[in-house]
Amino acid sequence: MSRQRTVLVWNPEYCRHCFGCIANCSRKALTLDHEHGVLCYDIRKCIRCNNCLKACYTGALHTETVEEP
Ligand code: SF4
Ligand code: SF4
Repeated sequence: MSRQRTVLVWNPEYCRHCFGCIANCSRKALTLDHEHGVLCYDIRKCIRCNNCLKACYTGALHTETVEEP
């Protein structure tokens, strides 16, 4: 039987690289890959507090519920 998990989804199209989400993540679950300019998300560190979503003024972040195998 599969489990459901809520994950953070980043949309680079809307991202303005303000780093507000990274600064507001107390778990250091979000980091920036400087080489590729992408936001990296470590789901193992995330406690789903949604502080990053509240900090994002562009709508570049949202959550989705996915099925785990
Ligand atoms: S939901 Fe909370 S812990 Fe998870 S990435 Fe966002 S700010 Fe960090
Ligand atoms: S807060 Fe939003 S706009 Fe700013 S870096 Fe994070 S995802 Fe991008």
